[in-house]
Order: sequence, then C-alpha cells, then structure tokens
Amino acid sequence: MLSDEILAKYEMTVGIECHVQLATTTKLFSGADNDARDKSPNSVVSPIDFGLPGMLPVLNRGAVDLAIKAGKALNSQMAHVSRFDRKHYFYPDLPKGYQTTQMYQPIIGPGIIKVPLEDGGAIKVRIHHAHMEEDAGKLTHNGSYSLVDLNRAGTPLIEIVSEPDIHSAAEAKAYATELYHLMTYAGVTNGDLYHGNMRFDVNVSVALRGSNELGTRTETKNLNSFKSVEKAAEYEFRRQIELIERGEKVTQETRGWDDAKQKTSSQRSKEDAQDYRYMPDADIPPIVLTDEEIAAIQAEVSILPNEWREVLQPLKLNYLQTEMLLDIENEYRGKIKFLDSIKDYINSGNLERAKFFTNWQINVFIPLLRDESFKLGQVDYLQVERVIHELLSANKLSSTNAKILFKELIGLNELPDIEQYATDKGYIQVSDEGAIIAIVEAVLNDPASAKAVDDLKNGNEKVIGFLVGQVMKKSQGKANPGLAQKLIRERVL
Ligand code: MN
Repeated sequence: MLSDEILAKYEMTVGIECHVQLATTTKLFSGADNDARDKSPNSVVSPIDFGLPGMLPVLNRGAVDLAIKAGKALNSQMAHVSRFDRKHYFYPDLPKGYQTTQMYQPIIGPGIIKVPLEDGGAIKVRIHHAHMEEDAGKLTHNGSYSLVDLNRAGTPLIEIVSEPDIHSAAEAKAYATELYHLMTYAGVTNGDLYHGNMRFDVNVSVALRGSNELGTRTETKNLNSFKSVEKAAEYEFRRQIELIERGEKVTQETRGWDDAKQKTSSQRSKEDAQDYRYMPDADIPPIVLTDEEIAAIQAEVSILPNEWREVLQPLKLNYLQTEMLLDIENEYRGKIKFLDSIKDYINSGNLERAKFFTNWQINVFIPLLRDESFKLGQVDYLQVERVIHELLSANKLSSTNAKILFKELIGLNELPDIEQYATDKGYIQVSDEGAIIAIVEAVLNDPASAKAVDDLKNGNEKVIGFLVGQVMKKSQGKANPGLAQKLIRERVL
C-alpha cells in the first residue's frame, strides 16, 4: 500500500476524450433511425451503414448544426472549412473497412470551459478540438462465436478532446459532469448515459511534483459514468506510482475498466499501434460555414450551466444543491421549468420568495420526484406551489401539512379549489385565538399536565413542547403551534 507521503510526491495529469452521441433523428450519412435503443439487432441499418458496395453517404445537416451548438457550449472557435477523412482498420463491427471521421480539419477548434468543483473552487480546462465522426457497430462475444449488431453503425458523434489540464480524480469527475451538463443544455445530445450517449476515455500519467516532463500515459477507454471516470483515474494514479516506486516502467497502452472489480486492466499495447492510412473521404464534400450561419445556429442555444450558476448566485446555494437543480431541469426538460421560475422570482426582486421556491424544490419536490413510488400528475405544479406559499404565509398551514398537501395535489390530474380541499382534509390550521384559547386552557387545567406546568414555571423550557403537543392532539392537528405556544406562555409564565 502507498503511504500518503509517497502519494504526495507525485502529481497526476489527465486528459479526457469524450464521444458524444448527437441527438439527430437519423444517422450521420444515411436515413436510418438514430435511436437504436431497445431495437432488435440489425433492424435500423441502411446499405450505407452496412457499407455495401456502391453506397453513397450524404452528410446529415442536422448533425452539423448540433456540432455548431456544441462549439458554443465549449467556447470554441468554429472551423469555416472542415472535412471528413477515412480511418482504415479491419474489424467485424466496421463493415466498410474504415471509419469516417475528421482527422485533419475538425469542425470545432480550440476552446476552454470552466468547471466548478465540489469544494467550491473551479478549474479551467482547455479544449484541444472536437471532431465529427460515425460510431461503429457492436460485437457480442459468445464463447466460440461472436454476434454483430450494426444498429449503432453510422451513429453521429462528436469526439471532444481536452488538453491535459486535469490534476486529480475529483477534477476528472467534475470535468466529465460538466461536459454532460454542457452537451445536454446545448441540446447536442439526449445524454442517456445508460445507453452510451457519452463515453469517456481517460488518459492518465504521473510525474514527480514540480517536474516539467509528463510521465508515460495510459488510456482507459469507454467509461460511461462520472463515477467510473473518477475511480479509473484514481486507480491508474496509484497503479502507476506503485510501478515507479518499484523501479519499473509504465507501459503506454490502452486499458479497460472493470466496474465490478473497480480495476483497470491492459487491453493492447501502443507498440503495435496501427497505421490507419488516413485519407480524405472523396464522397463527402467539405463543410463550409459562414460566420452568419454559425451565429444564427448558436443563437438557438438556450442558457448554459455556468450562466444558470450566475443567475442562482444570489441564493447562495452550495455545489450539490446547484447540481441538483441543474440535473432536475435536464430530466424534466420540456415538462417543468424549474430554473426559469427561480429566475423570474429573482428578477422580480423578491429574493425571499425566490429562496422559498428554491428550497421547496430542493427539500420537497425533488425528493418526491426521486421517489419511485410517487407518480406525478398533470396539474400545474407552479400554481400548487403558489397557493401553498400563500397558505403558509397566512399561517393557515403547518409546514408538515403543507408537504402532505403538496404531495397529494401534484399527484392529481385536475386541480380542485386548493383551500377548500385542504379544509375538507383537515389540513388548515386554526389561527383564531378564541378557538385555541379554549383548547389551551383545557390542556393546562388537565391534571395530566400539572407536572409539566410546574416544570415550566420553574424554568424548564423543554416541557413547552409537550404542552404544545397536547394542544395539537386535542385540536386534531389544526391548531397553529406557534400561536398555541404563545398562549401557553401568557398563561403559565
Ligand atoms: Mn473516436
């Protein structure tokens, strides 16, 4: 095992390549359906994706538009001219014998993104470039034979290549998370990680702290969760240090990640690196973009994560609360506008109201949405929140009953008169002094309360909770507990 002292001698350097599946309807060069999820094998493939002789690819303009939007999210310069190349290799999941990609003139040039960290800080990661390319098919190995499914062949991707600006496993995870936020908020991808919509290749090397030279790097391929990016970076950091400390050398190689074992293992060494014989693809004309065209498409990109973080700034939320809001917005995109509503409240100058609304999302609504046994109805949730806020402000609801009422109402498909509904259900609390005085006096005169009353007189403040509890019980939960407490104090002290 490595001591903290040894670990502290070394610094990790990480660069990440990320393949992002573009949210187009059809594939990159054919009219085949781009949604291969849950489709039977080889059912969404055209002759172009099969690579049949004589096929002619036609570039999907929708994919180009999404790449242009990705360029905005990455703060990158767009290339006015970019083109496709053929990358030759032989593999059963690539029937054409080459992958169509952009080797020499990628569509997205250098950029930079600011990545917030869990500890409240932030790092800047430069983007080297991002290029468009097609995905290959999928092989399933079954003992002595393998099955080929070409449903994914020709799926449009962009591959985002970072500079090695990342120096810890936590930063690697934060970078992957932020790319996900950027690509989903810009509408570039659906971001379905389970189905491989974003896959990360993590390049890790270690060197003595303060050294100018980078160590030999390994590349751990095809990670599809932020957690596995973090774990793989940490694992490689330690594995490489152990090798160096033993006087051995790190081999430059491609490694795979075993999620069950939480380990990387060698897949192939770079010594047998292939010559891909790149050449321009003569079937596909270059992509030529004017500044006007780029600006028009990028203007369609809505508010990006860092702009939202700016908007939320006055609420002084922590990292996890902010991320929670950004995530839920994504999940319910097109159905519920959480962030827009918060923004409206902030812009209206009513910060208290904005805080209430935001806390309600974080503490009440999001936990409900995350609860698998809960089913969201069709009612206007903003309207429900508004009325509940009014009832709470008017002291007509306890916070406990407010949550119960909210849960019941947003499970409905049609909204009743909320105050009437709450009254019928017995949720409305009695804030009418006259009505509560009678109950308070009955409780105080009850022999069962005698000891508590004495204790309170003698300065034991804790028993007031017991007395308020008795009042709540007698009023069947309808008394306003704050008011009950005030009335008890007036009578006992
Ligand atoms: Mn690639």
